Amino acid sequence: MAVILSLMTYPKTANVKIYSDSQWVVNIFDDLNFLTIKDIERSKVNYKVLWLCLFKIIRIYSLKVKITKVKAHSDCDHNKEADKLAKFGAEKNVLIIEDKLLLHNGTVCWRDMPIERNPILMIKEIKDAQFIEEFLMLRRNEVYRQSDLLRLIDWKISLKLNNINQYDTLFEDHYLQSFRIKICCNELPTCANLKKRKPDLYDENWKCNFIKIEEETFDHFWKCGKIQNVVQDILTRLKIFLVKIIQEYSRDDIDIHELKIKINELSMWDIGRLYDFTFLMKNQISCQLMELLRCYKITEEKLLYKVLKQITGRVLLEFKVLIWEPRNELQIKEEKRCGISSKDKKAKSHSKRTEVGVKNVDCNMLESNWNKWNNLSFHRGGHWANF
Ligand SMILES: [Zn+2]
Repeated sequence: MAVILSLMTYPKTANVKIYSDSQWVVNIFDDLNFLTIKDIERSKVNYKVLWLCLFKIIRIYSLKVKITKVKAHSDCDHNKEADKLAKFGAEKNVLIIEDKLLLHNGTVCWRDMPIERNPILMIKEIKDAQFIEEFLMLRRNEVYRQSDLLRLIDWKISLKLNNINQYDTLFEDHYLQSFRIKICCNELPTCANLKKRKPDLYDENWKCNFIKIEEETFDHFWKCGKIQNVVQDILTRLKIFLVKIIQEYSRDDIDIHELKIKINELSMWDIGRLYDFTFLMKNQISCQLMELLRCYKITEEKLLYKVLKQITGRVLLEFKVLIWEPRNELQIKEEKRCGISSKDKKAKSHSKRTEVGVKNVDCNMLESNWNKWNNLSFHRGGHWANF
């Protein structure tokens, strides 16, 4: 598991050296390294799922991995640090629920609310919710800390949709998926991000590639005056697509005129609103859109995901082909003009990152969000938070 986790952090084609004190891991790794994924699937190795996962990561990302055996608790500083962390993890407080509680025949309450379901599942769900909260508190996810926005998104569906994408990976989807993840984490190499990552290569003059006035951020692409026609085309086509797909999958006889009006009335068409259709690219579906689909009786789970995947995939692809790729061509030209080679781009940046501390986090907000997520998990029950 540790090896898999560490590999997940490497960029493509990296050379990786791992030191492990487990002779078992080293031996099995060396044995399996020569086999194809199919052969590993057929083998009888212990923990096969984990090994498969490991070698799939290695092959997909073309990593070169070498595992070297080191003596356990040897005097290496990194080893000491790892031991310290392991010890710290093991020393975490344990909450022991006594038998008495499980035999308790009355009502168990949490925050004055009676727990009506299996308490063990309940605790798990609250834990899940707290995990989501931690995820949302990452700086890159700042945008979700706006409670008004949180209310506009159907989280149960959105998280589930991410989940489906994760497991249902067709290989050709792979690049589109990693593109989506970059958008979700705001890590597309836009000029605004490049300036932060490599200030020694990109100075203040790097602006929107289409018209060099404004900062090039992900949000800017949708507001950029120079490509408004492209954006409007995407929007128009998406509306038409929605009509088509609802018509195709709905079990009702549909009044097309009425459907068109309803689609037009969705508030996501106003770009720059708290929630607009660009959120679809991040697999974030608005409650309003869900309401519309429900209205046309597209509710059966599998069907619903199928429809939503097509919608989100379409916006993503249109953005990629019509905006991002043309932008990349301009960017490459500009980099050439400024003498930035791809070797420069791959080299490690020497400048220090400006550290942004947690001091900006509003503590009140933190507390109220924590409560909100806990309560959501409590009331919604079920599995809305099951990643
Ligand atoms: Zn622009």
